Amino acid sequence: MREHFELRAVDAGGRIGELTVPRAETTVETPALLPVINPNLDTISPRRLADEFGAEILITNSYIIHSTDDVRERAVAEGLHELLDFPGAIMTDSGSFQLSEYGEISVTTEEILEFQHRIGSDIGTPVDIPTPPDVTRERAEAELETTQERLELAETVDTGDMLVTAPVQGSTYPDLREAAARHADGTTLDVFPVGAVVPLMNEYRYDDMVDVVAAAKRGLGADAPVHLFGAGHPMMFALGVAMGCDLFDSAAYALYARDDRYLTVRGTRHLEDLEYLPCSCPVCTAFSPEELRELPDDRREEELAAHNLHVTFEELRRIKQAIRAGTLLELVEQRARAHPTMLDGYRTLLDHAAQLEESDPVSKGSFFYTSHESARRPEVLRHHKRLERLSVPGSLLLTEGQPARGDEFDESWRVEPPFGPFPRALSKSYPLTAEVPERTDRAALAAAADGVARLVETNPDADVTLGHRGWPASVLERVPDGVTLVDLDEA
Ligand SMILES: [Zn+2]
Repeated sequence: MREHFELRAVDAGGRIGELTVPRAETTVETPALLPVINPNLDTISPRRLADEFGAEILITNSYIIHSTDDVRERAVAEGLHELLDFPGAIMTDSGSFQLSEYGEISVTTEEILEFQHRIGSDIGTPVDIPTPPDVTRERAEAELETTQERLELAETVDTGDMLVTAPVQGSTYPDLREAAARHADGTTLDVFPVGAVVPLMNEYRYDDMVDVVAAAKRGLGADAPVHLFGAGHPMMFALGVAMGCDLFDSAAYALYARDDRYLTVRGTRHLEDLEYLPCSCPVCTAFSPEELRELPDDRREEELAAHNLHVTFEELRRIKQAIRAGTLLELVEQRARAHPTMLDGYRTLLDHAAQLEESDPVSKGSFFYTSHESARRPEVLRHHKRLERLSVPGSLLLTEGQPARGDEFDESWRVEPPFGPFPRALSKSYPLTAEVPERTDRAALAAAADGVARLVETNPDADVTLGHRGWPASVLERVPDGVTLVDLDEA
């Protein structure tokens, strides 16, 4: 059991947690955003990140510090917290990214971990091999073996109470990612970045990203804090959190600002295309788009970076509140509408509904059916599993209409899309209290029919009649043959 990470609330795969960072003598509430600080140039100072934006943790690159003489000397002499002037926790990356970009770096895992410890990093990182997507299996396996050797080496380096990360690699091979995660989870290391997903995000391959993260999550214990490495766009945070990621880092806020790009939870806009600012942060209330465009370059960059950070932190607060309220999947569903590739990501997430169901709370406040994807949510899956355990009388009416009068049936149960049948006594229990649109859709009817089928297949001797309101033939085909069908709209 990892003592430095505790869960406070969960919803679907998402969680609010508390990461204890002993060296910084602080705790960080997750999901957390780690703004990326380039030690050679900061658009927004670390002090301002803490004071104005409430950043509890940031990330900087120890390899850049190590390879820049004057910065290295100051870091060693003053320590990282002093150098950056940041009161919270500081994570350091190792240069693995530079390794993936330039093919080689000049430090070993021992050297860089010892250096990170020496300059006062709170969470250090070994030099892993970030294997890109779609490489041959041979390469993915060989590089993973090297990464695993480095993690085992990292366990032996004396790093005091600095937490150390154990990156999970394995390219786009889910079984390798899962095995890598299981291996990392078995080490004494502390934080688990899912690595090398940036190329997937750059190509909008959110579906593949979800598969990769889901695989890694299968190999990690629930007490493992997971870092989605390089994921900094607020548009995809809700999806990332719902998968079970706890830490995100953002260089995007600054990089995008440099190119006059304006972040929103629905995607990126170019400042030149904006006639209005769809935001109420201090920047967007102080300036019009025209006024922003007229600012000197460095000032405009700073203001855009500040806006980008405001929307980013705002989205994290919204996500945390959604977890508390049990409405995280409703939020993911909304965000999925921002871009067709985000919708692919959400649909892929629902392929892993059984995995999400394991952590999803049994009871929440509300279930809003807001798209046909809702029919595939973990709550529907759980209800169908529960149907196998309910005791069924000899003759049973399942109906969308009024309960049967007289003694024709032993019992009559309700049928509600997308869940299907349930005893009337359960009507007030979650998720059967769901708000579902009057104008239902085929996915909800099909899921309800699957529920009927599940019940009938588990109880083959029961005499079942289904009263439905005009279900189409393609949906009724899912109901087993022995069930007597009554169309209530025609009765
Ligand atoms: Zn704004």
